[in-house]
Amino acid sequence: TPTPGLKKSFAKVVVIGDSGVGKTSLIQVFENNKFNQTFKPTIGADFSNKELIVEDKLVTLQIWDTAGQERFQSLGSAFYRGADCCVLVYDITNPLSFANLNNWKATFLTKSDPKDPQTMPFLILGNKADEEGARKVSAEETQRYISQQDGTFIFFETSAKENKNIEDAFRELVKKVTFRQ
Ligand code: GDP
Ligand code: MG
Repeated sequence: TPTPGLKKSFAKVVVIGDSGVGKTSLIQVFENNKFNQTFKPTIGADFSNKELIVEDKLVTLQIWDTAGQERFQSLGSAFYRGADCCVLVYDITNPLSFANLNNWKATFLTKSDPKDPQTMPFLILGNKADEEGARKVSAEETQRYISQQDGTFIFFETSAKENKNIEDAFRELVKKVTFRQ
C-alpha cells in the first residue's frame, strides 16, 4: 500500500551521450530490470515513465531516450525542452565518449535553456564498469573533470549488464532536482 502523505512530483530526465555507450540499456534495466544484449532500439516512443519513492515524494520520472539520432547530432528541440535534469553517459572503455561529454553538456544547456544553469543537476554515468580489463577512463579523471565544472554534478560508474549502481544513481539525481510540483 502506498505511504500516505507522499507528495506527487514529476521530472523530465534527458539521457544523452555518444552512440553505443549504453543509454538505452541503462534505461531498460532501470525500468524493467532487463538487460537485453540484442535489443535494437527502433522508432519507439520518445520517452517512458518510471516511478520512484524518494524521501517524502512519489516521483514520476519521464525519461527521454534518443532513437539513435545522436549519431547525426540531430536531436530536435522538443527532446530537450522543459528538462529538469540531465544524464550524461560515457563508456569507461571509450575515451572519446568521455571527451565528448563537454559538448553534450553544452548542447543540453543551450537547447534546454534553464533559468538557473547552476542548479540544473547533471548525473554523469561511466557505464560498462563490468569491462574493467578494457578500462580507458579512470574514475579519478572523471572526478577531476567534474571539479573543474560550475554547477551540480553527481557521478557514478554503472553497469547495465550487471545492474550495478543504476537505481542508486537515479535516486541521488532525484534528490538534486528542483520540483515545480
Ligand atoms: P546507446 O546507443 O547509448 O543507447 O547504447 P545501447 O544501450 O544500445 O548499447 C550499446 C551496446 O553496448 C550494446 O551492445 C549493449 O549490449 C552494450 N552495453 C550496454 N551497456 C553495457 C554494460 O553496462 N556493459 C557492457 N559490457 N555492455 C553494455
Ligand atoms: Mg540508444
